[in-house]
Formats: sequence, structure tokens, C-alpha cells
Amino acid sequence: MRNRLLLTALALVLPLGQVFANAEKVDYQAVVDQAYAQFKDVDEGANADYIPILATVPSDMFGVVIVTRDGKVFSAGEMDYEFSIQSVSKPFTASLVMAQQGPAAVRTKIGVEPTGLPFNSKMALELYDARSVNPLVNAGAIAAVSLVDADSEADRWDQIHGNLNDYAGRELTVLEEVYTSEYEESWSNRAIANLLFNYGRLYSEPEQTLRVYTRQCSTGINTRDLGMMGATLANEGVNPATGKRVLDAAHVPELLAIMATAGFYDESGEWMYSAGLPAKTGVGGGIVAVVPGKFAIATFSPPLNEAGNSIRGMRAIRYIAGELGVGLYGPNAGE
Ligand code: GLN
Repeated sequence: MRNRLLLTALALVLPLGQVFANAEKVDYQAVVDQAYAQFKDVDEGANADYIPILATVPSDMFGVVIVTRDGKVFSAGEMDYEFSIQSVSKPFTASLVMAQQGPAAVRTKIGVEPTGLPFNSKMALELYDARSVNPLVNAGAIAAVSLVDADSEADRWDQIHGNLNDYAGRELTVLEEVYTSEYEESWSNRAIANLLFNYGRLYSEPEQTLRVYTRQCSTGINTRDLGMMGATLANEGVNPATGKRVLDAAHVPELLAIMATAGFYDESGEWMYSAGLPAKTGVGGGIVAVVPGKFAIATFSPPLNEAGNSIRGMRAIRYIAGELGVGLYGPNAGE
């Protein structure tokens, strides 16, 4: 009784919510601004050019955003330019397969081991009899597209597109010029699709699957969209802006585990060592990293390193993760 009186008195003086808010007050905007200022003039790497049109995207564009699990947005730099999502789409389509068939299907029909090889490796499929890869390299991502439960090419695309829209919280459009540029040069991915089919590890017709996969990769997003997509994962599968559940909370940990082990291809170990966060990169220059239960960090900057990962983006996210001390296993140094 006395305690209750005391609490009532306290509640009158100090609204409890405010007490907790103050205790946890983090100046996200300041950290985002610092990351932007610190890395905007980094002049290393080069745009991807094996998809010819990506070489024409202005290399100096740079955007950094944090989107919290309750939908607050803290941004610096380029937020509106629409770039192609490329491989950052891969975990989201893996999530659709998990939602439709459960995480066990991803494990048995695609695989969940990091390959330690470049994203477009064909050798990854030749190394082991099981032909097992993971959904974040091209082979596994093309297999994931083929696993979407669809009765036509159009239906397959509609479902994948709808799922990306749900993660972003708005209707996204395909950048048709990127699609054409990539599809016309898709010899390597066509080889992968055919190899998978040969080994019984592609579950729909190869050329149709390749087209849908290429459309998926050519979908346009801006830096803020990417932050919202990551924030949906940080928010246990519910989009913070629309309130729509996109993935069962029970499957989010499996998805984040694949991002942690394979999100940067043959640089995934280096990434976890330095940043300590599950994340995914794409050759369009996007990266999204997830701090489970808290927020997402997304960046856009086209110049890539040898592994195909955005240089300014990696540095900015490492810096933010280090400053905020949010590495999964404790605060990484961020170096
Ligand atoms: N669409 C690209 C490809 O298939 C995606 C690669 C990437 O972003 N790493 O090559």
C-alpha cells in the first residue's frame, strides 16, 4: 500500500515513460550526421559495370539513414534517388519462401551455409554433392525465386513484388532500363539457373525464373525505403509505418542468421568481425544492417570494393554500430 502511494506520487511528478526515454536517450541524428560527414569524401572503389547501366549512376551520391522499430527516421545525404535494390532484395525473397514453406524448406532446398566465394560463383554449386548454397548468393537467390509458390511467371513476380512493397511500406517500381541492361548481359546468371536446374535444385523453368530474379534485382528503392525494409526486420516482422505483419516473428531470427553469415559473400567474416551486425549489400550501392529489436541502418553509395560491397556504406555502418555499441556480441570497435 505504501509502495503504491509512493508510485502514485512519483507518477504525478515524473511521467514514467519520460524517465525511461531519458535513460535511453540516444542522439541518432548526430551519429548519422557524423557518419555522413566523415565518409562522404572517401574516394575509393568503382561502380559495378558488368551491368552496364550501373556505371552511369553518379558515384558521389551518398545517403545514410537510421529507421527505428517504431518508424522514426534519422537521415543525412541522398534520400530520394531511386537505385536498383540488386542483391539487397535476396533476404526479402528468402523471407517470402520461409513464410510460404517454413525455414526448413530454405535449409533443405537451397542451403544455409556461407560459400566463402563471390556472389556470382558457379564453382559454389560444383563443390559439394548436395549442391547446397544459401539464399544470399546468386545461385541460392535464383533458387529462392523458383521456390515461390506460383502458378505463372506473372504470379511469381506479383508475389515477389508485393512482398518487397510490404517491406518498404509503399509501391515500388522496376527500373526498366536497369532490367534491360542486366537481362541482356545475364549470361552468368543464366548459366547458374541452368546448372541449378540440371542438379534438381531449381524448382521452376530456368529462363522464366531468371527473368523474375532480374526484375526483382532491378526494383527501384531509395535509401529511406531500404531503412524501412530493415526496420521491419528490427521490428520482428511488422512494418513500423504501415503496421502490416510481413514475416512471422518466429522466422526473423533465421533470416537474420543468414544475413549475419552470408550477407557480404566472401567478405562476410570480415564484416561480422568489424561491424557485428546482420546486413545485406547489393551492387547497386545499397546496404541494410539490422539491430534486432531496435533499428536498421541503411546506406547508399555506388562505388564498390572487390567483393562488390559499397565502400562508403560499409564504413558508415561500422562507424554507427561502433558509436552506438550495438554489435550483436557486444560493442565492436568499428574498425
Ligand atoms: N542482380 C545482380 C546479379 O545477379 C545482383 C548481384 C549483387 O547485388 N551482388 O549479378
